[in-house]
Amino acid sequence: MNKYFNKVIKEIKNKNPKEPEFLQAVNEVYTTVAPVLETHPEYEKLAILERMAEPERMIMFRVPWVNDRGKIIVNRGYRIQFSSLIGPYKGGLRFHPSVNLSIIKFLGFEQIFKNALTGLPIGGAKGGSDFDPKGKSDMEIMRFCQSFMTELYRHIGQDVDVPAGDIGVGAREIGYLFGQYRRIKDAYEGGVLTGKDVTYGGSLTRKEATGYGLMYFMREMLNANKQTIKGKTVVISGSGNVAIYACEKAQSMGAKVVAMSDSNGCIYDKNGIDLECIKTIKEVNRGRIKEYLNTHPKAEYMLSTPHNKPIWSIKADIALPCATQNDITLDDAKRLVANGVIAIGEGANMPCTFEATEYFLKSKVLVAPAKAANAGGVATSAIEMSQNSMRYYYTFNEVDKKLETIMVNIFKNCDSAAKEYGCKGNYVSGANIAAFKKLAEAMKMQGIA
Ligand code: NDP
Repeated sequence: MNKYFNKVIKEIKNKNPKEPEFLQAVNEVYTTVAPVLETHPEYEKLAILERMAEPERMIMFRVPWVNDRGKIIVNRGYRIQFSSLIGPYKGGLRFHPSVNLSIIKFLGFEQIFKNALTGLPIGGAKGGSDFDPKGKSDMEIMRFCQSFMTELYRHIGQDVDVPAGDIGVGAREIGYLFGQYRRIKDAYEGGVLTGKDVTYGGSLTRKEATGYGLMYFMREMLNANKQTIKGKTVVISGSGNVAIYACEKAQSMGAKVVAMSDSNGCIYDKNGIDLECIKTIKEVNRGRIKEYLNTHPKAEYMLSTPHNKPIWSIKADIALPCATQNDITLDDAKRLVANGVIAIGEGANMPCTFEATEYFLKSKVLVAPAKAANAGGVATSAIEMSQNSMRYYYTFNEVDKKLETIMVNIFKNCDSAAKEYGCKGNYVSGANIAAFKKLAEAMKMQGIA
């Protein structure tokens, strides 16, 4: 392994000892770009790896709010502005009790590479809070969002930093955040947040974009390997924004989706998931996936435990982890391979552990890596920003077509980078190399900044 790589990884570990997710993300990228370092010895002198792994700015703040019973709750807010090398900081906000500095840093680091792959002028950032939206009333969500934005507003702007949604942050939360921003600024700055509702500046197809984009990438990857989506059996973890629209596109491409999940358990419907029912449970009623059985009594429900996610034991050709990080462990990977899986499509960020990814690649399973395969969401956010600047709207089909073209190009770039560096068919390495080369060259040109 390259000496410069070894030295930097050691330094980053010493500097960030309590950040396992962040270290995992850096290690995964830097391991695969080692061959590029061999052909660019100047990167060491320019401290490219050190600079890329150090955020430009980290903001942490208090978020006090009052619940419906009049109790004062204090949460912690984060915004990590990782890189503005190729555009304004851009990346989602996650509201989930598991949120901590390590998780936001890993997501921000991944975002730099993902955004570079889209070919659009957007830098990388991520933010969020350890606030848990589950079980909260709309008024509690609103009061929390207003308090969060009362601090965040001073750090963002349509040419500075443009947040969007992620786990626990959908159209409702973006609406409350935007309302408070507009009030504080006393101006309509539509491009300051993306994922807005179409009634006040949002883009058609943004809601569908990450899931649809994942399936466009999957189609390209399968076609390049003489396979098709049609007729394949699919399992999808999660039942949120990404999972629902990945399911919709997979079904429209002729696949049969037989299982979906939430953090409590999974449903298995051998006749194929009834997506309209899932949409009603999750998008309208904000319910639990178990409720699917109320209208589909022949389907099965299996509980998850911290060490057993039954969804990965179901026989499938394609597995789409669309819930959260480290969802597929080495043991899960072994079960999926034993059951004949041919492709993994990462809708979530870093959903496979390092060991699981290695096992899939060793077993000749195709892996569509998150940075590339789920980039459709942020790419469509950038399209939303450009519509806001132009004060103009594209139709659903116009945005969908642009999204599809972007995903096809991302696949081509990953494919050719993998071929150029001697790892044909390894799209994990291909994605990392293609993004890293672009960012390293931009860093080289902009001097020590
Ligand atoms: P949502 O909040 O809409 O849905 C998240 C889903 O994942 C829910 O079904 C949730 O179940 C499940 N989940 C969350 N945490 C856990 C956990 N610890 N264990 C098991 N299941 C869990 O989020 P999104 O669909 O927007 O995001 C899903 C993933 O996709 C995330 O990794 C996100 O970073 C990534 N992503 C999202 C993009 C977007 O445009 N939204 C863009 C690119 C990536 P439950 O309800 O029980 O918590």
